[in-house]
Amino acid sequence: MRILIIEDEGKTAAYLQKGLTENGYVVDVADNGIDGAHLAQTQYYDLILLDVMLPGIDGWTVLQQLHAAKKTPVLFLTAKGGVEDRVKGLELGADDYLVKPFAFSELLARVRSVLRRGAVRQQDVISVDDLEVDLLRRRVRRGGARIDLTAKEFGLLSLLIRRAGEVLSRTLIAEQVWDMNFDSDTNVVDVAIRRLRAKIDDPFERRLIHNVRGVGYVLEQRP
Ligand code: CA
Repeated sequence: MRILIIEDEGKTAAYLQKGLTENGYVVDVADNGIDGAHLAQTQYYDLILLDVMLPGIDGWTVLQQLHAAKKTPVLFLTAKGGVEDRVKGLELGADDYLVKPFAFSELLARVRSVLRRGAVRQQDVISVDDLEVDLLRRRVRRGGARIDLTAKEFGLLSLLIRRAGEVLSRTLIAEQVWDMNFDSDTNVVDVAIRRLRAKIDDPFERRLIHNVRGVGYVLEQRP
């Protein structure tokens, strides 16, 4: 599997290249939009990781040129909080996106998922029972009522709901949501879960976030 990284920040590009290479991918890197678009059009890649802010020509233009020519799946990397960016990228034909900064494990999961699904991207809205999470617009509703979450709470909820039914360890949650290792202090996760529950579970009849003793947490509908 060949992956092209188009990213002008050298550190990020090197980090991604190293991680992906270690996971068995063949990786090329372009540090500007012009070289990136050229490589994308002249070489074969299974996937392209595309940064949006690039010197030369920007990521949007690369995306447009690419999709006019061939349908290589594209996962774009966007800055924090840019809802318009995410919508624009998906409308221009990208398959998925990641918000910087992200944990490498999250990137790897998305890469694998895009490669597996081909051109079908992640669902924007995921529902479990009467809880509805719009991952793209970062909106949460339960029983039709809008619920406001902080950025961290939203990150935690979106992880749990994307992997609904799967028990997630505190360590995995800490790594994915905080982009750090909390080997010594996974208590941070318990505190954040409690806050999230106070908003999305406590006011309602049925609980959706469950504690699995000695393991971690799972979000699921239980009878
Ligand atoms: Ca950049």
